[in-house]
Amino acid sequence: MKLHVPDLRKEEGKFITYNSTLVLSIGGNEEGPALKINLQAAYVAKMILIKGHWEAEMQGECSRCLEKCNYQIKESFYEEFKQLSLISEPSERDSGNVSEEGDLFVFRGDTLDLNEYFRQSFLMSQPLKILCRSQCKGLCPVCGVNLNYRQCSCLEENLDPRWELLLKLKEKN
Ligand SMILES: [Zn+2]
Ligand SMILES: [Zn+2]
Repeated sequence: MKLHVPDLRKEEGKFITYNSTLVLSIGGNEEGPALKINLQAAYVAKMILIKGHWEAEMQGECSRCLEKCNYQIKESFYEEFKQLSLISEPSERDSGNVSEEGDLFVFRGDTLDLNEYFRQSFLMSQPLKILCRSQCKGLCPVCGVNLNYRQCSCLEENLDPRWELLLKLKEKN
């Protein structure tokens, strides 16, 4: 995703809305996840401010039951990029024309290339745990059956022996 800076400079101080889908390349995979980006950008005092949010539909494996499932990642952002000069320097790097100086993002030239920024944002927003549903019951630790579909009796069988006696008494009645 690239912003044309002169468009923003013409309307200095005003937020302009951009909607875009960015297909990320991750780990050599050119057809990686697609981020749906909703972004507002403004040029203010040689800075480009961006704010908004993105979301991505993902496929993965539930950490409890190991079934394939779809999940969604959403992230909001607010960032500033300082324009150092109007002249772009030829860059051989894949990461576009943005670099970091201290804790500030800087760029040179007429174009603000946000691809690498969003790639990093995506990599940092990976969930620690993927769940197919919030109430996923997972797998039985004894027989491995998926407890969302079937109930096994392993946990009953592994009850405390004192309870077992009570259960037997109950069965007799
Ligand atoms: Zn699950
Ligand atoms: Zn079981």
